[in-house]
Amino acid sequence: MSKEMPATPMLDELESGPWPSFVSGLKRLAAAEDKPYAPMMKDLLGQLERSYETRKGYWKGGTVGVRGYGAGVIPRFSELAGEFPESAEFHTLRIMPPAGMHYTTDILRQLCDIWEKYGSGLVALHGQSGDIMFQGIRTANVQPCFEEFNALGFDLGGAGAGVRTSISCVGAARCEQSCFDEARAMRMIVNSFLDEMHRPSLPYKFKFKFSGCANDCANAIQRSDFAVIGTWRDDLRIDQDEVKTYVAKNGRKWMIDQVIAMCPTRALSLNDDDTLAFDGESCVRCMHCINAMTKAIKPGDERGVTILLGGKRTLKIGDQMGTVIVPFLRLETDEDYEALLDLARRVVDFFVENALEHERIGESIERIGLVNLLEAVGLELDPNMVSHPRTNSYVRTDGWEEEAAKWRARKGSAEAAD
Ligand code: SF4
Repeated sequence: MSKEMPATPMLDELESGPWPSFVSGLKRLAAAEDKPYAPMMKDLLGQLERSYETRKGYWKGGTVGVRGYGAGVIPRFSELAGEFPESAEFHTLRIMPPAGMHYTTDILRQLCDIWEKYGSGLVALHGQSGDIMFQGIRTANVQPCFEEFNALGFDLGGAGAGVRTSISCVGAARCEQSCFDEARAMRMIVNSFLDEMHRPSLPYKFKFKFSGCANDCANAIQRSDFAVIGTWRDDLRIDQDEVKTYVAKNGRKWMIDQVIAMCPTRALSLNDDDTLAFDGESCVRCMHCINAMTKAIKPGDERGVTILLGGKRTLKIGDQMGTVIVPFLRLETDEDYEALLDLARRVVDFFVENALEHERIGESIERIGLVNLLEAVGLELDPNMVSHPRTNSYVRTDGWEEEAAKWRARKGSAEAAD
């Protein structure tokens, strides 16, 4: 006799609002009587209803994994196993997505078929880590399920104190603002750090993320320890005929309110003949004008990346955005990509040797100072490495000009050597 659907009056409330509810999805899976996971999902709903009644979570951790890996499976055992035996084990498999999250429908169907065979049918594309989250599998099914995913070309992602699953934005394949080959950079880094991902041996988690431009669709600046964000170092490319078309269509007021006034550094102004005047020295490459007038303004031709360190959500010292450690790195040739990998390796080695247990690299930088980190990983100081804009206008600037002249001279000779 098939298991009965549990009564879930509190969960039902969650379906009454205007938005689609995850409860409907769980119920759909629980009602699929011809599928092997239906009893598991019924017990899951029962336990979840209990959690809403008592305001308590009933999951506890444990140790579950696949052979040769020390990460990638998030164990979940129920404290209410006696009452809800079918969902007593409800582990999550973290599977790495392809770079740019490009799938064929055929691959998606095959992933779903494997998951229906071994797991609960519940899939989240994608978790905040970037992984495909296959949620709900019994311990005995973990190894054979992973082997089938692996045969399809997929691998487990990261978890615990190691390098975590990486993500890149959709990138050059579909976005004209892309300033480097995100998929190549991501694959290169992931392949190089697979050991640190699958067998965690760092003081704490370490995340790489890749965004093709400063729109930062991968949330790299907020959510990654090592953010690689596309940019350019020459001037914007402005098509003045297209600018005139925008003005003709939207009016000068729109242009001034929505584009000129919203440039954070006032690098743009509108000429009398409805063309744009542009001050390249002042542009901070924020992408606003490009987003507003995509047909008229494009990133420059000399493209590469800015690298930032230390972004993270709240841990010991609050949310942090990444700090620029490399203002511009050209990313075109094989050597350029090697240079990126080399820097990533130096940073991770520094993190392994110097971070305290359970400390993100952003916290290490706060503790030891950016200057010390730069020295340790062999980077030159650069005035573009601003971790926080100056908020006090009363700052003595004695000697600044002399220091700036020295830096320009050093930079000039380094570029000449390039
Ligand atoms: Fe201004 Fe940003 Fe456009 Fe540069 S990219 S001109 S800073 S709006």
